[in-house]
Amino acid sequence: MLKLGNKFANTETSIFTVMTSLSIQEKAINLAQGFPDFDGPDFIKEKTFQAIKNGFNQYANSSGLPILREAVAFHFEKFYRTKFNPETEITVYSGATESLFSTFMALVENGDECIIFDPAYDSYAPAIKLAGGIVKSIPIQMPTYEIDFTELETLFNEKTKLLVLNSPQNPTGKTFTKNELEKIAFLCKKWNVIAVCDEVYEHLTFDSHVHLPLANFDGMRERTVTISSTGKTFSFTGWKIGFSLACEEITKRLRACHQFVTFAVATPFQIGMAEALKVGDEFYREFQKDYLKKRSLLLEILTKSGFKPIVPQGTYFVLADYSNFSNEDDFTFAKMLTQKSKVSAVPVSVFYENKNSVQNLLRFCFCKKEETLEQAGERLIKFASENL
Ligand code: PMP
Ligand code: GLN
Repeated sequence: MLKLGNKFANTETSIFTVMTSLSIQEKAINLAQGFPDFDGPDFIKEKTFQAIKNGFNQYANSSGLPILREAVAFHFEKFYRTKFNPETEITVYSGATESLFSTFMALVENGDECIIFDPAYDSYAPAIKLAGGIVKSIPIQMPTYEIDFTELETLFNEKTKLLVLNSPQNPTGKTFTKNELEKIAFLCKKWNVIAVCDEVYEHLTFDSHVHLPLANFDGMRERTVTISSTGKTFSFTGWKIGFSLACEEITKRLRACHQFVTFAVATPFQIGMAEALKVGDEFYREFQKDYLKKRSLLLEILTKSGFKPIVPQGTYFVLADYSNFSNEDDFTFAKMLTQKSKVSAVPVSVFYENKNSVQNLLRFCFCKKEETLEQAGERLIKFASENL
C-alpha cells in the first residue's frame, strides 16, 4: 500500500477544470471558467516576442525582474497614490494564485484563525487549511451585498491571524465601499490582524462603484498584503504574472516562501507585463467601457431567457438565479444546462463554506467577444423556449 496520506484524499477537482472539460466535451460555449476568448494588446505580445528573440530566456531574479517591480510600483502610485519600494516591498509570482498560496504558507501557523467572506474564491480555504490555519467565514448577503459587521466583529479574537478580502469579489461581483473598508480596517488594527487583499479585478468596477485598496486606509499599509494579477487587466490569463505589495517585514517572509514554490517566474512574460503596466489612461477607460457593454449584453441575455441575474458591481461575472427552470441543486442544473443548451456556467455552491446558504445560483462570465455572448444568448433563449 502506498503511503498517500490524507492531505488531498478528499479534494475535489477544481470546478474550473470540471466545467471546462464538460464544455469541450459538449462543444458548449464556456461561460464557466473566467478567461477571455480574445487576446490582450499586440504591443504586449511584441515586447514579449522581442524579449525571447533578444535572449531574455534564463531564470529571472527570484523576487521578480526589477523592471516589472518598478512598473508595479508605478501602477500602484498612479492609481492609488501610495508608494511601494520595488526593491524591498514588491514580489512577482506565477499568478495571483501562487501569490495567495505563498502568503498563506508564509504567514499562517498551526491553529491560526483566518477570516474569509462567504462565498469566496475557491483557492483561499484549501490553501489556508494546508498551512495549518482554521477558516472562519462571514456571509455576504445576496442579493443585497450586505455584511453584518456585528457578526464579523465576533469572529475576531487573539487567535485571528489574517483576514482575506477580495474586492471586487469573485463570484458575487461585490465591490466593498469606503464605509465597509473603514470598518474592516478598524477591526484589523484593533486585533493586530494582517489583511490579505486579492485585488485582481481592480480595474473592473461599474456604475458608481470604485475600487479602493484597503492598504490605503489609515494604518493599514504596514499590515496589508495587496495581491493583483496582470491576467485580468491585460487579458493574458495564461501568462500567469501576478504580484504582491507589502511592507518590507512581511515581504521578506513572502519571498522566503516564494523561492521554494516556483523560485522565479517566466522571464520574457515579465518583460511584456512591465511594458503593459506603463500603458496610458486611455487603455483603462476603453477596458471599462468594453466590459460595461459586455455586462449589459449578458444581463439582457440572461433576463430574456428566464434567469434572474444580479447586477454585479465589479468583476466579469454575473450570478443568476435559475429557479424559473428547476429546483435541482446547482451542480445538477449546471451540468444539464451545459448538455442541453450548450452553454456552461459554474454552480455557485462551490464557492461557499456554508453550502446551505446558497440556492439556485449559477455564475456566468462575460469576458467574451460580443459575438460569443450573442451566440450564447441564442442558445439560452432556445433552451428557455423548450424548458420553461
Ligand atoms: N483571485 C481571484 C479572485 C480570481 O478570480 C482569480 C482567477 N482568475 C485568481 C485569484 C487567480 O489569478 P491568477 O490567474 O493570476 O493566478
Ligand atoms: N479565476 C477564474 C474564474 O474564477 C478561473 C481561474 C482558474 O481556472 N483557476 O473563473
